[in-house]
Amino acid sequence: MEEKKKCMCGCSDVRVVACSGASNVGQIANRAAIELAKEKVAGFFCLAGVGGHIKGMVKSAKEAGLMVAIDGCPVQCAAKTLQHAEIEPAIQIIVTELGIEKSHEIAFDKKDCSVVVEKVKEEMGCKPPGPNSCLNRGDKVYDYTE
Ligand code: SF4
Repeated sequence: MEEKKKCMCGCSDVRVVACSGASNVGQIANRAAIELAKEKVAGFFCLAGVGGHIKGMVKSAKEAGLMVAIDGCPVQCAAKTLQHAEIEPAIQIIVTELGIEKSHEIAFDKKDCSVVVEKVKEEMGCKPPGPNSCLNRGDKVYDYTE
């Protein structure tokens, strides 16, 4: 029997990190995280702070209710950066696995970004905008003080 996808919308503290790599897919990952924050699906979180072992930021990342990692390609820099800090992303998206080819051009097609944004929402089981919508997050300011 097919397992029913559980809605993760009940989680009030969703955060997203992106690899933000120097390629089209890295920049798509970054832009998708920005769009998810603008739509209040998830709070955009500083991955570099985790990679830099900034204590308060690692602690804050560990406290996330649900962590989403968007990687440009199978090298998976974002997910691996989290894992080095013993943080397992609940959802991981790899842009090239969505049929988007990697190139070392920074420019990208906005339509490709939408594909990634929609994929994240699908994985989260997001309800569409409306009275019961879960799209009401993403504007949280994180406190990294120790
Ligand atoms: S996951 Fe791929 S695109 Fe992203 S930073 Fe790493 S090598 Fe670059």
